[in-house]
Amino acid sequence: MGLVGQNDKKGLRGSLCRRAGIHGGLAVLVAALAAAALASGCARPSAQVSPAPGQQRLQAPPARSLDSYADRLRTSYAQRTAAARRWGLERVPLTPPPPPATKPKVTARPGFEVEHQGDWDLPPVFTTVPTKDKVVFLTIDDGAEKDPAFLRMMSDLKIPYTAFLTNYLIEGDYDYFRRMQASGVTLNNHTLRHLYLPGLSYEEQRREICDMQGIMRKEFGKRPRMFRPPYGNYNQDTLRAAKSCGIEYVPIWNEEVHVDHWEFREDDQRLRPGDIVLTHFRGPGEWNGTMIDDMRQFLDHVTAKGFAVARLEDYL
Ligand SMILES: [Zn+2]
Repeated sequence: MGLVGQNDKKGLRGSLCRRAGIHGGLAVLVAALAAAALASGCARPSAQVSPAPGQQRLQAPPARSLDSYADRLRTSYAQRTAAARRWGLERVPLTPPPPPATKPKVTARPGFEVEHQGDWDLPPVFTTVPTKDKVVFLTIDDGAEKDPAFLRMMSDLKIPYTAFLTNYLIEGDYDYFRRMQASGVTLNNHTLRHLYLPGLSYEEQRREICDMQGIMRKEFGKRPRMFRPPYGNYNQDTLRAAKSCGIEYVPIWNEEVHVDHWEFREDDQRLRPGDIVLTHFRGPGEWNGTMIDDMRQFLDHVTAKGFAVARLEDYL
């Protein structure tokens, strides 16, 4: 049976925008709403006799609610601008659209199917979710680095992400990942020991994947729906084993972010709507920077290209 390999180490380096200054499209929206509020009756009428005490005219409710909506937008934009400054971002991350009412149908990326993919209903391997929304999805793998500042940064900026965890890297500190989970992050399966799965038998692969399902249910209270094979390498046995213990999706990635550069699967080195982006829980011991530096690398590029970061689970 065929082996599907990922040349995730061969990607080309992307150029990064380094323009200084914080900006954002929401400011325009806030200004437009404020203008609409004024035009629709919030402005004080001129050349009128003041009403007697207790007889003041009430402002029209629609204009008032529009006004307070504009206020809320302005406040949340101000908060995000302040958070972006606090964490040293060059730009204020864009707000994603609401989750789609109808979930897109996710199928295996062409060329990434295994034999009997369709007739055995095996979980699809994909790198991009079909959507027209200008969003990308952040996924973070392994679990070696457990930086409390990273959890604060992501909560502060309200950036969603999805974790794929390997047991041998997290078993010393499940609590760190429980805190991550409590902040709204979905924890998923990245095997027990991070082995090259196509080199293992079906039964060995089942242990790597399905025993991790059991550990995750015990430690985090939920059996994951998503699984990512180490290095993006899999074969038909991998998908059969994953399906046998409840895996529905096998997202891999279209871009990988390192602390100092990007790697793209596509030759044109552009982000596409629905792309899944990979990075790792790594710290200064493994690359030249912190998780915070890595997130700056990710967020500043995504924002500069006009994309928001959305929650992968909202689209599946
Ligand atoms: Zn990994």
